[in-house]
Amino acid sequence: MICKICQREFIPNKYHFNQQVCSQSACQRIRQIQNIREWRRKNPDYFKCLGQESVWQEKRRRYNRLWKSLNKKNLKEYEQLHQEQRREYMREYMKRYRQQASNVNRDKI
Ligand SMILES: [Zn+2]
Repeated sequence: MICKICQREFIPNKYHFNQQVCSQSACQRIRQIQNIREWRRKNPDYFKCLGQESVWQEKRRRYNRLWKSLNKKNLKEYEQLHQEQRREYMREYMKRYRQQASNVNRDKI
């Protein structure tokens, strides 16, 4: 399995066959945030239907603050980590790709 977030290969938990994100805490956190966003995107009217706009707005304000504080600290760290991991992954990928290409060429000859 390749993690959808850090693009690294990982072994899925045997209890979660369709796990798409590795168990690194950074990836798990991002996944959680993405899940919430995805859910909101699919259910844009959910909160409106409750007739509790102001409550919802207050919640959203709080959520945004939390998100921003997460952003500042962790996301920067994550970004750096992610870049390194991605570079490493691409290096591996290119190595494999080249090996494969040379194998194919050998077969032709
Ligand atoms: Zn990951």
